[in-house]
Amino acid sequence: MDFNLSEDDLMIKEEAANLAAKRIYPNAHKWDEAGQLPQDLLDEMGELGYFGMMLPEEYGGLELTTVTYNCAMEEIAAACAGLNITVSVHNSLCCEAINKFGSEELKKKYLPDMATGKWIGSYCLTEPNVGTDAAAIKTAAVKKGDNYIINGTKAFVTSAGFPGVLIVFAITDPEAGKKGISCFVIEKDAPGVSIGVAEKKMGIKTSDTREVSFIDVEIPATNMIGEPGTGFKTAVILLNNGRIGVSFQALGIARAAMEESIKYSKERQQFGQPICNFQAIQFKLADMAARIDAGMLLALRAASLKDAGQNVAGESAMSKLVCSQAANWVVNEAVQIHGGYGYMKEYAVERYYRDARVTEIYEGTSEAQKMVISRLILKD
Ligand SMILES: Cc1cc2nc3c(=O)[nH]c(=O)nc-3n(C[C@H](O)[C@H](O)[C@H](O)COP(=O)(O)OP(=O)(O)OC[C@H]3O[C@@H](n4cnc5c(N)ncnc54)[C@H](O)[C@@H]3O)c2cc1C
Repeated sequence: MDFNLSEDDLMIKEEAANLAAKRIYPNAHKWDEAGQLPQDLLDEMGELGYFGMMLPEEYGGLELTTVTYNCAMEEIAAACAGLNITVSVHNSLCCEAINKFGSEELKKKYLPDMATGKWIGSYCLTEPNVGTDAAAIKTAAVKKGDNYIINGTKAFVTSAGFPGVLIVFAITDPEAGKKGISCFVIEKDAPGVSIGVAEKKMGIKTSDTREVSFIDVEIPATNMIGEPGTGFKTAVILLNNGRIGVSFQALGIARAAMEESIKYSKERQQFGQPICNFQAIQFKLADMAARIDAGMLLALRAASLKDAGQNVAGESAMSKLVCSQAANWVVNEAVQIHGGYGYMKEYAVERYYRDARVTEIYEGTSEAQKMVISRLILKD
């Protein structure tokens, strides 16, 4: 497998790094404190194509590969992890849902506005009482003539507060278990859709997270994505994709924390010399570099195989497991290298420490990734 990035990959990555350095990183602390992203940044990123990165050009997308897209997203994560997940859920879960599994009618109706960022997508699988055991969702979709009536509640919905569409998983056949789940696209301002208040979170504070309820929401049957009963399979395939995105998000946070640590360890003097002269600090930095590189190889493998059209359930689970664990290890050591200053908000590692935590939780916990991996290796 060739892990050399192409000229196109490097160019797009460099453009993202420039945007991150000039526009995002200098403001990330302020936006974190405010707990939201400025609309003009999202508009600017929309114009640059960030909201349709893997969509076909005919719908206004940039048609990037998974590898190229994620190389750019790693740069965004290094500057602001909350912005990364806002763009990542939209691209890797929501645009992909409609583009890969939706009808031509749904693609024409929704993708052009999603590609510009005018409409932002949210992925609605988790419910207040259903997380890891996603096949146990309770949200119901009942057929009535040419329409479906949706009732239920979804929890922790990323970007629910922005105008746009919801990709919703609901039961259409209660007797059929996971084969009774279907996937729908629902407009956020449809009658009966109720968007809750923004959750107050530990980290990724610039991302928007809310509960979404559906009370007798009537939608055309043509808003179903794919065939009846294929929703669970769709959810899993999309999450394989999303997990590659979270891997690169974790790697971006980890790299940024390592870079801050290298810089600080060269500046901070103790015992009459920079702390990077001490082997205990050098070994922490060496471990950081090795863990990040190991994660990057797994993430690139998963992204490349996805681009080659392979099923990447195992590869994306391994990648997310390793990258998110590496990120949490790295940010912890980064705070340690910064000593007391690392615990203060004026140092970026404090934010990275809080932001990294969720990478082991969303789009499947680390335990859920181990369930996927162990199931695959025990199969034969
Ligand atoms: C900031 C944020 C944003 C999110 N955004 C979205 C979103 O946009 N859309 C969406 O649908 N969801 C979203 N989620 C939900 C997220 O995917 C879930 O939180 C996650 O899947 C875990 O589900 P849970 O919280 O219900 O935990 P549970 O499933 O209740 O798990 C609790 C603990 O038990 C462990 N556990 C559960 N089952 C097993 C088992 N069989 N074996 C071993 N351990 C087990 C878990 O690993 C975990 O440690 C978001 C969550 C957060 C925090």
